[in-house]
Amino acid sequence: MAQVKMKYGIDLGTTNSAICKMENGDPCVRKTDTLKDTLPSCVSFTKKKVVKVGDSAYNDLRQDKSKATRKWSKLNENVFIEFKRTMGLNTLYESSNMGCSFSSEELSSEVLKALKSFMSDDTINAAIITIPAKFKADQIAATKRAATLAGIEHCELLQEPIAASMAYGLSSAKKGGMWLVFDFGGGTFDAALLKVEDGIMQVKDTEGDNYLGGKNLDYAVVDEIIVPYIQENYIIDEILSDDVKKQILRDAMKFYAEQAKNQLSFKSQCDITSQLDEFGEDDEGTEVELDMVVTQQQIKEVVTPIFQKAINICKDLLQRNNLQGSDLDSLILVGGPTYSPVLREMLKEQITPNVDTSVDPMTAVAKGAALYASGIDSEVKDEIKAGTIALELSYESSSVETMEFVSIKLLLNECSGTIPSKLFVEFTRNDNGWSSGKLEINEIGDVVECQLMEGKANAFALTAYDEKGSLIPCFPNEVNIMQGIVVGNAVLPYNIGIEVHDRSQNRDAFIPLKGLEKNQPIPAIGVRNGLKTPKQLRPGVTTDNMVIPIYQGESNTEGTSAIYSDHVFNVFITGDDIPVLIPAGSDLDITLKVDRSQQMMMEVTFPIIGEAIEKVIEVGQRSTGVDISDLQGRLNEAKQRLISLQSNSVVKESETTEVQGLLNDVARRFDGEKNSDDGKMHLLADLRRAFLKIERIEKEHEWDALEAELRTKFDKLEKANNDLGNKYNSQVEGLRNQTDQVIRKKDIQMGRQLLSDIDSLFIGVTLIYQLIGFVQHHSRNFGQYSWKDANRARQLLNQGMEMVSNNSEVDSLHPLVCAVIELMDMPENEKPEF
Ligand code: ADP
Ligand code: MG
Repeated sequence: MAQVKMKYGIDLGTTNSAICKMENGDPCVRKTDTLKDTLPSCVSFTKKKVVKVGDSAYNDLRQDKSKATRKWSKLNENVFIEFKRTMGLNTLYESSNMGCSFSSEELSSEVLKALKSFMSDDTINAAIITIPAKFKADQIAATKRAATLAGIEHCELLQEPIAASMAYGLSSAKKGGMWLVFDFGGGTFDAALLKVEDGIMQVKDTEGDNYLGGKNLDYAVVDEIIVPYIQENYIIDEILSDDVKKQILRDAMKFYAEQAKNQLSFKSQCDITSQLDEFGEDDEGTEVELDMVVTQQQIKEVVTPIFQKAINICKDLLQRNNLQGSDLDSLILVGGPTYSPVLREMLKEQITPNVDTSVDPMTAVAKGAALYASGIDSEVKDEIKAGTIALELSYESSSVETMEFVSIKLLLNECSGTIPSKLFVEFTRNDNGWSSGKLEINEIGDVVECQLMEGKANAFALTAYDEKGSLIPCFPNEVNIMQGIVVGNAVLPYNIGIEVHDRSQNRDAFIPLKGLEKNQPIPAIGVRNGLKTPKQLRPGVTTDNMVIPIYQGESNTEGTSAIYSDHVFNVFITGDDIPVLIPAGSDLDITLKVDRSQQMMMEVTFPIIGEAIEKVIEVGQRSTGVDISDLQGRLNEAKQRLISLQSNSVVKESETTEVQGLLNDVARRFDGEKNSDDGKMHLLADLRRAFLKIERIEKEHEWDALEAELRTKFDKLEKANNDLGNKYNSQVEGLRNQTDQVIRKKDIQMGRQLLSDIDSLFIGVTLIYQLIGFVQHHSRNFGQYSWKDANRARQLLNQGMEMVSNNSEVDSLHPLVCAVIELMDMPENEKPEF
């Protein structure tokens, strides 16, 4: 089978998608059927059961939404958008025209098929498809299935920010430093921090909000500009007081809002005028029409708070990496809304003046994907035509050097037809500025030193000749080498781990596998040894099985509860997998391998039989997994923890306002969103964010709380020691010195240890007096108690009185008191305890 480099890069976006092909070393975005660079990721099913994708589907959506205002009731749904949001979930989109339902991956495959159709001259069965940096295993698996459904059998996945920075990095003069990719899409926001050294780039950390995007801007324009205009000119109180009707109005107006918002990225004002009969009537039967002017200043006021959210996320990301905006060498803009001059100004003011606008934010991802594709081998199944000579080429497809070695070998076995006895090849660079000259090639192979143009994707055409100088077709017939930029490894966007039972806290806790922590470069390998089999596995008995559940979780989630983690798949081991009996409680080691596209494979080893079992992991669709009462419980827990922070005097009010706002927002949206999969995921995402912030505040004040506790407990100890005769002066002094020292150092770990030392001395100090009190009291009131053996008890108490007068310590008095208690004739639970 021959190997060639891939050519196609696909940005399968939530709102818009694009396809790009490497042509002569350049990434060329293919125009859509409406001659645009991007295709709306929108699928429409008509009454005649025709599938439409892209702009015409988006027009259908627009018409459906305005049609709904004519009756103020929802229509049956036949146009779908934003299905990427539910990728990997078992959500179904029901089309009344088709009489059936579609999954996210089926709808996505329609988008992929449409993109393929724009490449009319090619059949495409291999491509790079981009995914958001934070896609989880199930979302990735669903994307792969969508590709397969669209006939793209060989597909590799690339994280969107890496793709964007490749497109940027190749053309930019900057080849190093810290870069921030700011990707504000239609419905999602992603920020990725990259470290670039000598043109080699590596993702360091990522953050984002899956529910922040252009859509929020559009609805804000609707709510704050268009609806107030309609209210001024029409009577719509009744419509606005009905949630369903209000949403129908907002959805219909969103298209106008979007159009105005987009135009105002380039002009200072624009008109919004609707067509006759486009919308329905107001409360009093007057037809609603739009005829208004919107200015850039008006838009600015509306979009600023929404963009600010994204900027705050970037600030958090920088802060947790100990960076400031001024440390960034480049801020790369990706996504339609980044055309906005308002946003660009805000970024320059608040993050860095190094905002780079050199790449087109709508196509950067697709271009980067194609560039990346040109470095990935793909197998070509077609038989090589008779008379064509087959070559094996091997080389690094990206380089920071200006020369690159390409090794070339003739594959005689794969050629058919008559092959000349002597063969020559020539490499010619696409700008014709360099060629290798004719080199003789054979089955042993040779190396060609190719000269590269700097900062470019270099394409070399290969031509083969026979001895007489006649051209002979050869395959492959091109070599692509990118100069100036090399993609380091992608990194894991989440911790991957398992849930184990934490005995000390008596709860299940998420534990990342060693080696599969967030931001580890991939491919990566994670291990966990010393697990136990819960029950026996008999060879060949299918019903004997065990499950290893695998979770993906946020950073800093080690040992935390499941709120931060998603269960993504189970690995099943059954009796069929093993050759001999494995008793219950046997040791079990697991190794989880993650490849470049984040596909996983697990190896399970039972040391008892010394054998490893390999399990290819099939990641299926997941139900949202969160149920409503669980969400409600989490919301209550978050509120409770916030209240206790707010009642803590060391926590300033300003520290909790953000969490308070977030929780208010979740509470306000709760009923409206809890019934849809996407809504539930949105609530969960915001709750996670709130919990992380609460935990951060709790952590920041952990020391304050500890210091206060240390001081109080020490004072109590000192007072007890004073009150009880200063017997422990030297120990108390020792602890006073330690307390001063720990407080000076603010050392949490030492502080905790000290707290427990203070506690035990306090017990020692007070215990001796309690023991003395016990002996004196029971000796004096001996007759009031009943004894199992009165003589023995009397004898012990006399002995005790003697010890008290001799100043005996806890060590000698404590066992005596215990022995006396043993002799008391009363139920165990009523006896005094020491
Ligand atoms: P996604 O990555 O989610 O597919 P895109 O990057 O294609 O999204 O961005 C789509 C969003 O960009 C939409 O909300 C659209 O309204 C917005 N957009 C497109 N062009 C402009 C523009 N000129 N100014 C502002 N926003 C724009
Ligand atoms: Mg995008």
